[in-house]
Amino acid sequence: MISVEEALAFVLKHFQPLESERVPLLDSLDRVLTEDIVSDINVPPFNNSAMDGYAVIADDIAGASRERPVTLRVIGDVAAGYTATRAVERGTAMRIMTGAPLPPGADTVVRFEETSENLAKGHPERSAAESKEPSQGLRTVDILKASPRGDNIRAAGEDIRVGQVVFPKGTTVRPAEIGVLASLGKKYVAVHRRPRVAILATGDELVAIDAPIAPGKIRNSNEYSNAAAVLKAGGVPVQLGIARDNIADLTAKIRAGLDADVDLFLTSAGVSVGDYDIVKDVLNAEGEMRFWQVKMKPGKPLAFGVLRGIKPVPLLGLPGNPVSAMISFEAFARPAILTMLGKTRFARPTVRAILQEEIKNDSQRRNFVRVVVEKRGEDFIARTTGEQGSGILTSVARANGLLVVPEDVPLVRAGESVEIQLLNSEQ
Ligand code: AMP
Ligand code: MG
Repeated sequence: MISVEEALAFVLKHFQPLESERVPLLDSLDRVLTEDIVSDINVPPFNNSAMDGYAVIADDIAGASRERPVTLRVIGDVAAGYTATRAVERGTAMRIMTGAPLPPGADTVVRFEETSENLAKGHPERSAAESKEPSQGLRTVDILKASPRGDNIRAAGEDIRVGQVVFPKGTTVRPAEIGVLASLGKKYVAVHRRPRVAILATGDELVAIDAPIAPGKIRNSNEYSNAAAVLKAGGVPVQLGIARDNIADLTAKIRAGLDADVDLFLTSAGVSVGDYDIVKDVLNAEGEMRFWQVKMKPGKPLAFGVLRGIKPVPLLGLPGNPVSAMISFEAFARPAILTMLGKTRFARPTVRAILQEEIKNDSQRRNFVRVVVEKRGEDFIARTTGEQGSGILTSVARANGLLVVPEDVPLVRAGESVEIQLLNSEQ
């Protein structure tokens, strides 16, 4: 038997980040930049107001208070998207909206709330129309509070400076990065290509998901859970359907997958010790394979090797049991896909939780227990999703976490604090 670490290390030796491609900005979401992003502008590009208010000269309002307001002459308005046509001089103020460029001469913005304009709002003697556009009627404004110079001003370049490396290559693009890239005018960005992943189910017992279940048959669920997991990890699933347990069909379907120019090949079933040797024989004929017993539960049988195509293609032979297939995908296929995408961190985020029930692990294998974790009061608590058999796929469906019990830990007691991997979160 081989440990999870040994198997994973061997698998990952066969993967590296894929080539770069230029994609429309939004297509870069969740992918990894292959270029340094250097700004050719300041962000913001000019000094502007952070508030709706009045652009003033700080020295003019030095002593202002509610009791002793300073009255300034209003010389105009400046809205976002426009520039002031006049300069603010001593004794004057310009009405300014959030995002509008600071007029020349002004060095401070006073919020409406600290001016007489605020008092005007909702004032019973003023009409609704007037209070909407209060400056229309105002030729002067009272400033009710002194403000430090520069108050409520967003300085040019305070977020990003010209020439700055905003995101180094290797950065994963999330919605915030998309927004920054948009502000820099990047309609296209360079990221690692997404891996194409062939998915082939094997077994005479399988029928398509829209077929009736004849005696002795089951539906091919692995193809779909695997394809969904490929999508979640950022890959492109290439669904090849079902290969029957005979040499001709399996060989033909593997070759069809290789013709589809894939970067990774996933099969399910036919790799455990007790299986008829068809799958193993065909994989051995088509590539350089290893068949492992991994010290994990579920997911003990695992095949890995490299198929001889036009280009060599790594193949992971996942176990057939639906839960085992999913856990083996999580342990081996997901890190492989993330590596091809240029990601370097595979671990799911974790949370510490108080286990609500005893878990026995007499298998001497690493036990991937499916759990529900939730907040209770100050703590997180975790309980298993119930029956943990490797055919019980709803035990994964109900789970939002995995509790990994090491191979040398035979028992985890109720009330112990345990670390849970959060299945629905990426790093
Ligand atoms: P095997 O690895 O071939 O021994 O299969 C183990 C178990 O997984 C058997 O009960 C199979 O029927 C089941 N199985 C294999 N392939 C699939 C599949 N694509 N979808 C659902 N169950 C499967
Ligand atoms: Mg089988």
